[in-house]
Amino acid sequence: MTTIQHLINGKAVASAKTFETLNPATQDVLAEVAAGGADEVNAAVQAAKDAFPKWAGLPATERARLVRKLGELIAANVPEIARTETNDSGQVISQTGKQLVPRAADNFSYFAEMCTRVDGHTYPTPTHLNYTLFHPVGVCALISPWNVPFMTATWKTAPCLAFGNTAVLKMSELSPLTAARLGELALEAGIPPGVLNVVHGYGKDAGEPLCAHPDVRAISFTGSTATGNRIVQSAGLKKFSMELGGKSPFVVFDDADLDRALDAAVFMIFSNNGERCTAGSRILVQQSIYADFVTRFVERAKRIVVGDPLDEKTIVGPMISQAHLSKVRSYIELGPKEGATLLCGGLDRPSYAPELSSRVAKGNYVWPTVFADVDNRMRIAQEEIFGPVACMIPFRDEAHAIELANDIQYGLSSYVWTENIGRAHRVAAAVEAGMCFVNSQNVRDLRQPFGGTKASGTGREGGTWSYEVFLEPKNIAVSL
Ligand code: NAD
Repeated sequence: MTTIQHLINGKAVASAKTFETLNPATQDVLAEVAAGGADEVNAAVQAAKDAFPKWAGLPATERARLVRKLGELIAANVPEIARTETNDSGQVISQTGKQLVPRAADNFSYFAEMCTRVDGHTYPTPTHLNYTLFHPVGVCALISPWNVPFMTATWKTAPCLAFGNTAVLKMSELSPLTAARLGELALEAGIPPGVLNVVHGYGKDAGEPLCAHPDVRAISFTGSTATGNRIVQSAGLKKFSMELGGKSPFVVFDDADLDRALDAAVFMIFSNNGERCTAGSRILVQQSIYADFVTRFVERAKRIVVGDPLDEKTIVGPMISQAHLSKVRSYIELGPKEGATLLCGGLDRPSYAPELSSRVAKGNYVWPTVFADVDNRMRIAQEEIFGPVACMIPFRDEAHAIELANDIQYGLSSYVWTENIGRAHRVAAAVEAGMCFVNSQNVRDLRQPFGGTKASGTGREGGTWSYEVFLEPKNIAVSL
């Protein structure tokens, strides 16, 4: 049995307690993982604090070299890391191997380049010269969820380290394996011990003391809105980036390119197993095309391959855990009780779907599920299901679409499909969300500000937006 330990000051550290991480497709135990608590957190924060002055004091070009090297090592190990990630998280191999792990490598090359270009501003006046310096913040807590764990961890680690900070990374207890590999590769790249520490454990035992630690200066958290709220209340005065839950509207007007809109709608709710913060989970369709759109959407949903996440053809793999499967199933049970019409999917394998292979017969599966006649006030429309469950909601006109899109506590992403250019811009401006994609699925450019508004979080990361959490601006005013 593989044993996974913490990485503290460059050394593997055990804990008295361990927990198991399971393969959600097979229920096999993949590893025994050290279950950290306050002691391990304190040691990791101390290591990060001790490593900070030297790391922050390196020329940016030297940090860039080491951070870039880490990206190169990830790029050289994509098949192995992707397989580990797929086994640990249930994310399908076509995503982990071709998208998520390669992008994790890109995160390091991107921020390596960027850290050599951090500059300031000058604000000259007749009496004073003001200029700004950007300093690294210090020790940062990086907390990652289980849905795309490696990509999310690297999205935080890359700017954090490149800008001269040191880190304690805590992964979700449900998918800790690739973070352990990240720690090993960081050392192999030559990043000094203590700069990146990895502590494993449950949120309450390891996450909470980490966020509350007085030597932690910034928290970059990705996870649920409930946990984000708890952290903000208990962590005290720190810099925060909170990337939280979503229930994003995918708005289709009757003049949209329907074939492209259908493909994107299907992708945005069913890819990544539907376990995606930016999922277009409320599909708002103009009444005049609603019936036709729903019929064609269901035809596509029924063709989606559900199965072994290691199979390149699989689109929907297993839910991360049995508890999460129960949660997703509870919403599938709830839909008809609230008055929605179940058009495909449901609680059991539908007759049109092939049987699962014997290897994954015990997996946490749910089949792509589509509800029509959904009212936006229903719980299935208001709450984040975080699984492959689509809610199709009709709307009358532009004003009604905007009203429904915004009638929700969340505000992470949004999608607008129309050929009317004026309307595209009007709706994009009116929708309450951190991001809006027009005639497009979610396409990431690392320079974009990524993040949400309302209950979807605070702060943005990406490009210079990552300064907000990982750099501290200082104004210097010199009397002339
Ligand atoms: P979660 O909030 O349960 O856990 C996230 C992380 O926080 C885990 O590492 C967990 O151990 C830790 N944690 C739990 N309690 C804690 C506490 N009190 N203090 C500190 N850390 C604690 O979320 P999850 O179920 O792992 O992830 C799914 C959620 O993440 C969804 O809501 C999804 O929308 C969201 N998410 C958001 C984004 C985004 O960019 N906005 C991206 C991916 C996932």
